[in-house]
Amino acid sequence: MNLLILGPQGAGKGTQATRIATEYDLPHVSTGDMLRESVAAGTELGRIVGPIMERGELVTDDLMIALIRERLGLSDADPGFVLDGFPRTLAQAEALDPMLREIGKELGIVLVLEVPDDVATGRMLRRAELEGRADDTPEAIQRRLATYHRETAPLVEWYRARDRVAPIDGTPDVGEVWEQIRAVLDRLEVPA
Ligand code: AMP
Repeated sequence: MNLLILGPQGAGKGTQATRIATEYDLPHVSTGDMLRESVAAGTELGRIVGPIMERGELVTDDLMIALIRERLGLSDADPGFVLDGFPRTLAQAEALDPMLREIGKELGIVLVLEVPDDVATGRMLRRAELEGRADDTPEAIQRRLATYHRETAPLVEWYRARDRVAPIDGTPDVGEVWEQIRAVLDRLEVPA
């Protein structure tokens, strides 16, 4: 199963992607986590992306595409993967399909977690208090949501046109959202 999970920050992508990864035994490939690890480790990549992330802006497409190409080529992604945080722009989405084809893979379903802006904002503000993430200031949160609508939301239509989208209502609690996702994934696993 090669899955992609799409939605604004605060939609619960990370939580649900982690659960999918555990229950279906797939690697959770989160570009946000990968970048935060490089920042924490003080690598060259981390030094480049740290300030960009703090401002709530996007890292360049070239860098992200190279990072994902390397990651999806690792053998733990052979049985499949849950991609979270990539693609975030049309250029990244356009790069993903040929990249997967090169390594003999194809994208399956795109789970789109739908939540209204006020719910997403409320959740991010709560997470900011709990975790103290450097990019969770109120200003950065607003900027990231605006960036999502401008750069990433158009991907939903892009994937819908390719018949890949499974819409999920991300508003209810974690357990209810999970039940919707499980229903979609279990349908996929049953041979037609
Ligand atoms: P996330 O944890 O997915 O919200 O990502 C945190 C931050 O990492 C984002 O606000 C961006 O600055 C950066 N980032 C993560 N994934 C991407 C991507 N695919 N393209 C550009 N920037 C990204």
